[in-house]
Amino acid sequence: MNANLFAQLFDGLEDPARLAIETEDGGRISYGDLMSRAGRVANVLVARGVKIEDRVAAQTEKSVAALVLYLATVRIGAVYLPLNTAYTLNELDYFITDAEPSLVVCDPAKRDGIAAIAAKVGAAVETLGADGEGSLTEASAAAAPAFETVKRAGGDLAAILYTSGTTGRSKGAMLTHDNLASNSKTLVDYWHFTDKDVLIHALPIYHTHGLFVASNVTLFARASMIFLPKLDPERIITLMARATVLMGVPTFYTRMLRSERLTREATGHMRLFISGSAPLLADTHREWAARTGHAVLERYGMTETNMNTSNPYEGVRLPGSVGPALPGVDARVVDAVSGVELPRGEIGMIEVKGPNVFKGYWRLPEKTNAEFRHDGYFITGDLGTIDDNGYVSILGRGKDLVITGGFNVYPKEVESEIDALPGVLESAVIGVPHADLGEGVTAIVVREQGADCSEATVLGALEGQIAKFKMPKRVMFVDELPRNTMGKVQKNLLRETYANLYAK
Ligand code: AMP
Repeated sequence: MNANLFAQLFDGLEDPARLAIETEDGGRISYGDLMSRAGRVANVLVARGVKIEDRVAAQTEKSVAALVLYLATVRIGAVYLPLNTAYTLNELDYFITDAEPSLVVCDPAKRDGIAAIAAKVGAAVETLGADGEGSLTEASAAAAPAFETVKRAGGDLAAILYTSGTTGRSKGAMLTHDNLASNSKTLVDYWHFTDKDVLIHALPIYHTHGLFVASNVTLFARASMIFLPKLDPERIITLMARATVLMGVPTFYTRMLRSERLTREATGHMRLFISGSAPLLADTHREWAARTGHAVLERYGMTETNMNTSNPYEGVRLPGSVGPALPGVDARVVDAVSGVELPRGEIGMIEVKGPNVFKGYWRLPEKTNAEFRHDGYFITGDLGTIDDNGYVSILGRGKDLVITGGFNVYPKEVESEIDALPGVLESAVIGVPHADLGEGVTAIVVREQGADCSEATVLGALEGQIAKFKMPKRVMFVDELPRNTMGKVQKNLLRETYANLYAK
């Protein structure tokens, strides 16, 4: 058997005419079209000298052609390396010189700047624009659609995705054909995907969520997806009338809740709403359920591991929890220092093991060793708990833990209390350098529209609710929290902004 992810997806395709992707400009791409388009691009890549295990780096706007480039790269046994479209030339310089691709594909408008960087590592450059224009498309129009998928073993590399790098330099997570295929197949079963499903796909495709979870799961299920260039809450609500599943980051849900068009009727055709990549507030979960009758299914994953846990399809979807470990995945909570497993309910480091977990960091064997335990568990860097029913709850990244006067403060514990106060929309709790305490607990709060809560009212309300050492030293108000495109609050930016808050 050929373990190449492309072969796993497309070999023995029963019905080439089946719809795979719809686009907003009326495009309808069948599974057979995807195969032949991937065949043409595969022939172009090989003609450009891309060999097995070579990296193909792509900084391209979301489009069917960009997805085809991913499929074609995997098909020829090369390694796909998607890059966030927001990265500047300065950032691209790091990724390209680190990964040493043999080909870089970019937007025609960026060609000149990227060509100068690509030249440093001897990489060729092709262009691909948002509407499919560019040299790659021109070349593939003239190429043959047939291509024999290159044989690969399950443990061979299919992709490298760089981590978002909020603490130091980004690292390239090496993902194998089996990492990707096994996780997608598990999710198809676990989330009850079938060929009747229509997924609203409004996520970017340079990140694990939109590229692997959304696209691979849809393709394995022989379902179809509607490609939207980006989050457009009103458009998504309109599409719900003929779709069945939405995958989003929490921002999708909070933004749609602002629309009066979000009703039980509007969501009546949908069977599943999934959220991940950042914590979904328990309040958002409840509000969504009250408005639509649907309990959002929250799951937890990361670039290095694909998906680890998920609330169940049938059974309790617990607000504030990311559910039990997926079938085939083991999750445990350990003491971060000793690595000893902790009793259920205790807070510690979340570790995972399974066929979903990546092979290591690109060209960083020491870093890889440091992040794995001897028994094969990967140290996620997330702190959390597992309850008696196996449900995992995340309390935040270990690096976001606040240590004040020698005490550990888990930001989420304080954030949950603040978020529940009248007039508060959301909050982020961070540690800021403090001469006496090491770090001072600091709350950054977003008020609800028109609310007038103040530092004094927040502190007054917390008094007696949480231990004294967890009390914020200061409460600062902002209009909104800084978030990246995947909806994650960028606490590193907040720490920078308030770095001198307690300076004398
Ligand atoms: P990334 O590698 O960009 O996908 O980021 C992975 C990180 O996002 C995880 O290590 C978690 O800290 C966070 N994350 C992902 N899903 C969730 C979730 N459902 N709830 C809370 N944090 C999450």
